[in-house]
Amino acid sequence: MPPEPGAPRHIRLTSHAGGTGALPIRWGAATPAERGPVVGTTMQRGHRNVIGTHSGSYSVYRALAVAAGALARDHRADLTNTSPTDEIGPYPQWGDPERIVSLDPWGATVASAFASEIAAGYDIRPTIAVTKAHVILPEVIEAVQKGRLKPDGQLLTEGGAALVTKAAIEPVWWLPGVARRFGCSEADLRRVLFEETGGMYPELVTRSDLGVFLPPIGGQTLYIFGDARDLADPAVELTARVHDECNGSDVFGSDICTCRPYLTHAIEECIRGAQPASAGGRGGVGLISYSRKEGRALGEVTKFLVYNARKRQVGGDTADQYFARTECVAGVQDMRFQELMPDVLHWLGIRRIHRLVSMSNMKYDAITQSGIEVGERVNIPPELIPADAQVEMMAKMAAGYFTPGVVPDEQGLKQTRGRGLE
Ligand SMILES: [Zn+2]
Repeated sequence: MPPEPGAPRHIRLTSHAGGTGALPIRWGAATPAERGPVVGTTMQRGHRNVIGTHSGSYSVYRALAVAAGALARDHRADLTNTSPTDEIGPYPQWGDPERIVSLDPWGATVASAFASEIAAGYDIRPTIAVTKAHVILPEVIEAVQKGRLKPDGQLLTEGGAALVTKAAIEPVWWLPGVARRFGCSEADLRRVLFEETGGMYPELVTRSDLGVFLPPIGGQTLYIFGDARDLADPAVELTARVHDECNGSDVFGSDICTCRPYLTHAIEECIRGAQPASAGGRGGVGLISYSRKEGRALGEVTKFLVYNARKRQVGGDTADQYFARTECVAGVQDMRFQELMPDVLHWLGIRRIHRLVSMSNMKYDAITQSGIEVGERVNIPPELIPADAQVEMMAKMAAGYFTPGVVPDEQGLKQTRGRGLE
């Protein structure tokens, strides 16, 4: 039994090997039996075979729940009836150690894949969950009302609800592979991760025998329109968007950027692409991959500081100063680093995206360089861009983002101006 929270007890350091009992991980092995389970338990120190713990950033809330006495340290998840609603994989990509380095391909099926280890007392938790949902968006209802989408009773109801399969994915990093993606040495990656998190995970520098890290960051959510198995079939038309979180626009409708219009436009394209021909669709499959990388992974505080800097600068908020103001505050224009993004596409078995709903060259390059073919690139219709977001839009187009239209020149950038603060 663990002691009561707050009771004096010795601190269990993870920085040195905790005895025997840890199962090996052979990253990229073709079967779960050969690969071995990811064990990030905080209960049995000797069983741990990774650095960090489960649930990404929410591990800190779990610690709070234990500290507050609300959660027993030795609580073990009862996984009865939690198995995925849709079978995803296994695909050949799962057995390629370089193709997937930032998630555990077996993370959704640990209860069956590692049943004997769980029965033997190992605390093995899923890092992926797959379920079903109805998503109801005002923009989709409007598309139905205006006749752009036609309910088919299966993928899209009369009321405008889209039926989806959705999957939540927590990050699981294989450090040698992550280092190679970023072109640095594993030793440098470990050292910088250790230092820049304030020394949060000493094993990064003391346990070179542990190659897997569960980082305290946000994960990804997938929304699949149509049959998830069709994603792996290059003969079935796939409409896809990889979207990075923007809470202000995605959820609250803030009009300074194009994030929600892009997202809802992509959802409309996904629905239409997946619907049967009888409803005006193309009988394909759709995918939105949503990454928790708020404000280009700079975070919302930085993002709001940049908004003020943009709108208060001499001459007002103009497109020619858009990236400069971000760099002044954050030191860089962007920290999303799309290098790890395609992993989830490989987890789904994707080999070809017929219609990529994105104007980002960074996303396009990351996807195609990872070995996935991209057919058509679908741009956002101009009428969906809010007036105040023209600054961002013009700056991105001038910076080389994909556009089928005219790329704005220096004069055009100076003239594209956003609203003031008042
Ligand atoms: Zn945004």
